Amino acid sequence: MHELSLAEGIVSLIEEQARQDGFRRVRKVHVLVGALSQVMPEALAFGFTSAAKGTLAEGAELVLTRPPGTATCMGCGKSVTVERRGDPCPGCGSFQLLVTGGEELRVTDLDVE
Ligand SMILES: [Zn+2]
Repeated sequence: MHELSLAEGIVSLIEEQARQDGFRRVRKVHVLVGALSQVMPEALAFGFTSAAKGTLAEGAELVLTRPPGTATCMGCGKSVTVERRGDPCPGCGSFQLLVTGGEELRVTDLDVE
């Protein structure tokens, strides 16, 4: 389950930020999880809860934003939105899509006290 190691990465990022900024508790962690990132949001939230135990991020709420995937279709040349990796172009049905966005996994903001 790679979500657990991703969650551990998020926790160590928070701890590093805490050392820099001197906050003691984190209430919310805003994370961008692209629709094409192959990360299961539920698994990430679960992994975060267990990775955060005993750290200053314990009890923090993970707020996930899921931007859609975007791609350029090699068939019709349009920029399209795709729900899942492997989906065809909604315009022409081609599977030749060049993914241009929606693969990110990034902490965007922390609500701290
Ligand atoms: Zn197309």
